[in-house]
Amino acid sequence: IPGAPINAASIDALSQHFPLCMRNLHMNLRKNSHLKHFGRLQYTLFLKGIGLTLEDCLIFWRQAFKLITDDTFNKEYRYNVRHAYGDVGGDATRRGRGYSPFSCQKILTEHPPGSGESHGCPYRHFSGDNLTTLLQTTGINDRDVLKGVKEDVEKKRYHIACNRVFDFTHAAEIKKAKDEGSWSAGDNETLVHPNTYFKKSFMLANG
Ligand code: SF4
Repeated sequence: IPGAPINAASIDALSQHFPLCMRNLHMNLRKNSHLKHFGRLQYTLFLKGIGLTLEDCLIFWRQAFKLITDDTFNKEYRYNVRHAYGDVGGDATRRGRGYSPFSCQKILTEHPPGSGESHGCPYRHFSGDNLTTLLQTTGINDRDVLKGVKEDVEKKRYHIACNRVFDFTHAAEIKKAKDEGSWSAGDNETLVHPNTYFKKSFMLANG
């Protein structure tokens, strides 16, 4: 996003624009100063997708993992971040590019999180009570929205639940964009990628 202040120090502030899957990863990272492998991978590729440079991504993870030494970070974690960005390893086709940020489809269907893991999609992988608690933690207390999400999830319409939350949390900005005529038909499309969710949220607030 041109002009967006995306660096290691701005991720906390930018996380207000993240979808629930990435909010959950970010909050768990801040709480535990650690994420397990698939959580790091899902989050690293998302951060890469929002425009965080490799250098800043390494600073972000090094600062976030407060409980380990530089030596441990360099030995155990640094390589995987560089690998995700295509700075090391991989076959020739990925060299310099690395891996693409995960789509909702991939997050919903591959590697379901196990005990102690924070990756995945909360709408798909959380129990009903834990999902409600997580949504309330992010400031969503509206009973109709929580009820709607519950019904969406029961019907396995996870994207619809996610888009319902997007529409609710951006209602004022969406109305403003419509009033000003800057809302196009394409803006009504269902969000099916965490990075698209971020971009749309950021643009609505800053566009
Ligand atoms: Fe993330 Fe997609 Fe799930 Fe929304 S539907 S929380 S963007 S994986």
